[in-house]
Amino acid sequence: MVVLIDFDSLHGSVAPEILDAAYPVAEDVDDLRPHSGGALGTVGQDSPAPQRAWAGFVDGTLTGRCECGTVTTGPENFCVHLVAVVVTALNEAFPWSPTATLPDTLDDPATFAPDTDSPAASASPAGAAARPPESPESTIRRLAGVAATLPPATLAHLLAQHAATDPRLEAALLTAAGLPTPHLLKNP
Ligand SMILES: [Zn+2]
Repeated sequence: MVVLIDFDSLHGSVAPEILDAAYPVAEDVDDLRPHSGGALGTVGQDSPAPQRAWAGFVDGTLTGRCECGTVTTGPENFCVHLVAVVVTALNEAFPWSPTATLPDTLDDPATFAPDTDSPAASASPAGAAARPPESPESTIRRLAGVAATLPPATLAHLLAQHAATDPRLEAALLTAAGLPTPHLLKNP
């Protein structure tokens, strides 16, 4: 199998200051997986602004697309996120394909991608537009189905957690259990 890239060739192409910045960031790359023949990873999963970055060999050249706005060919032009994804991929012996295609979107096909900076896209919460509106009845059915799969102890803890901050849920829980709800009746 042809080696498309290794640490030597990466170090030969990427500016030292970007490499220095990318190595610590690479420790924070999650969810690395094959996508369109290249490697897709999330950089800074726990940070306030995680960036998804994709790198792959398009027409023989290492090409990248990153949520920070970088879309470029040649590792020498990569942003820190892209270099971090490549470093992670090399660490994990990622199987690069020589014939990757630059993906149009870095999102999973199933999820809604606010790819543009249009006000409408940024105003709506991510994912809100992906799913048609659900009737209250079908929401109840769906959630009941989910709840039925949980072990009783997990379900009880989850319910208690929410009931502790939601007086209506607390009252419903106590009433369902046949217990009095005196302190909850002041404000019907
Ligand atoms: Zn980036």
